Amino acid sequence: MSNWTADKNARADARLKKALPDVFPRAVLVHAYKKPLLPPTPRLAIDSYWRAHPLRADKLARALAARSGTPAGWEWRLDPAGDFRLPPAPYREKRFTPGRGHCCICGQPTFRVGWHTDLWGKAEPNKNAAWHASCVVAWKLWTQPREHLKALRKLQGPKCPVTRKRLLKNGEVDHRKPLYRVWRENRDTDWPALLSFWGAPNLQVINRDGHLTKCQDEARERAQWRSAAGADAVERLLEILPGS
Ligand SMILES: [Zn+2]
Repeated sequence: MSNWTADKNARADARLKKALPDVFPRAVLVHAYKKPLLPPTPRLAIDSYWRAHPLRADKLARALAARSGTPAGWEWRLDPAGDFRLPPAPYREKRFTPGRGHCCICGQPTFRVGWHTDLWGKAEPNKNAAWHASCVVAWKLWTQPREHLKALRKLQGPKCPVTRKRLLKNGEVDHRKPLYRVWRENRDTDWPALLSFWGAPNLQVINRDGHLTKCQDEARERAQWRSAAGADAVERLLEILPGS
């Protein structure tokens, strides 16, 4: 360890110890002290822990969302640009926002340092936190799954599920069920369960050639759907036109 690193870590250690609450998740602390550069605040230690465990964060965020359930009167509407990358998030919508001290992703109360359970026994949510630290990371995984190639590769093992061959170094992240099809076929699924289509249960790492073929097949399918929808619209128009 260089003098610079040792010096920086000693200062971070002093800062962290001073700010550390009496009760703090042990796993987070163990993770922090294993890092080459020690996070200097409890909140940074927590963020670093969840960043290192995106799949755990994904699972937790979905479990917390299941606890909240779908708010009454909410239904999934597609964003006007037809962008499927953003998962449905009722508690981010103004009408359903659960208010201060709750997470806008899962709808559950937020506690000290963005933690998701009341370790401190205060029984009062932290009114300054609108996201759980874990939900921040889950949201990133759901919206930018490609950034989590390494964790997904590790979860999946050495085989490409599409080509059935060895997974090559150039493996790419893919949604097993494409998100446009989720909108078409699973739109009425309960919201918390819907989230799994953006999370690990629907993510895979596949070889580039397999991915290319899969993308071409999907593009063809979407084009067919579009032209079928176009033909339907023309037919409906002809039915209502006078004299037709
Ligand atoms: Zn949350």
